[in-house]
Amino acid sequence: MSNTHITGGTAITNPEQLRNIPGIDIRQVAEVHAKYPMRISAYYAELMRKHGQALQKQAIPDPLELYDSDGMIDPLDEENLSPVPNLVHKYPDRALFLVSNECAVYCRFCTRKRKVGTSSMVINDDTIRQGLDYLKKTPAIKDVLISGGDPLMLPDRKLEEIISQVRAIPSVITIRIGTRIPCTLPSRITPELAAMLKKNHPIYINTHFNHPAELTPEAAHACALLADAGIPLGCQTVLLRGVNDSIDIIRDLMYGLLRMRVKPYYLFQADLTKGTAHFRTKVEKGISIMEQLIGSVSGMAIPTFALDAPGGGGKIPITPEYIQHIGESFDFTTYKGKKCSYPNVEIND
Ligand SMILES: *Cc1c(COP(=O)(O)O)cnc(C)c1O
Ligand code: SF4
Repeated sequence: MSNTHITGGTAITNPEQLRNIPGIDIRQVAEVHAKYPMRISAYYAELMRKHGQALQKQAIPDPLELYDSDGMIDPLDEENLSPVPNLVHKYPDRALFLVSNECAVYCRFCTRKRKVGTSSMVINDDTIRQGLDYLKKTPAIKDVLISGGDPLMLPDRKLEEIISQVRAIPSVITIRIGTRIPCTLPSRITPELAAMLKKNHPIYINTHFNHPAELTPEAAHACALLADAGIPLGCQTVLLRGVNDSIDIIRDLMYGLLRMRVKPYYLFQADLTKGTAHFRTKVEKGISIMEQLIGSVSGMAIPTFALDAPGGGGKIPITPEYIQHIGESFDFTTYKGKKCSYPNVEIND
């Protein structure tokens, strides 16, 4: 595919194009690029130039990607949990259906770094057919997460073909689209796309913003088009060292998302993906951020801090410890740290 995909202008796909960015060693970028894909949409490249480090780290290949000996190729064991190629069935009632192997920006911390943007991620009419067949014959699946790669990299026509076929399966209730496009290529969200999605309700979109600098007027416009089409918007932020690992950044991001009608859904502890060790924070960091959010900011602005269990165990919420004792009295601390109890009895009647 050309690097001027859809309306994005000229994307950065060649290390040479980074020559004007201070502090970037082109030779090192090229070394990383030989192993992992790079694409930075023209839009995100411009944003990155304005805002520096926090955005650059997400998108520009870093030599540290090559020095991660402990990371796991497939930390969530997705390949073993795929009954057919590119469909991960890990929980009883929902499935993750990968329909695109491309993204507008290849995030350096991507969990599917092993395959997204590479030729090893084969998606074609046949794999899509197999995924649809599996969904049809597995009525326990009520919630289909369409993701990738980024599904919104597909042309409207192709996307509609897939979504309408999923919609036609009677056992499927919700269709969720996982996409970073509102953040990385907001001009891709058009009234035509919103109208097509609207025909297939209930559709939910979980997007992915990691820094308040990404909440631009363009991104807000893209989210407004989707929200106006009646699509509830959520956000799956990844906690990233040197990008957003501070309470002030996360608080601004969460409130900024609400302003764009996006409800914070998950804040993820970074996965153990090989090549991403430099992004990882300690779990205490996320817990501390949650402690500083809960009670102090609007409940609407509070995501669930979650860790996706290595080996495919699924996501578990990590919450600060409030419960101290459960007996005839339920003892806990308030968000301000004050001890409190609640009589834990049922009356006899
Ligand atoms: C994250 C994920 C889901 C959805 O999990 P929710 O907690 O319902 O958002 C479903 N399947 C797979 C494989 C996932 O990784
Ligand atoms: S948009 Fe998602 S799938 Fe694509 S590179 Fe970023 S994290 Fe990975």
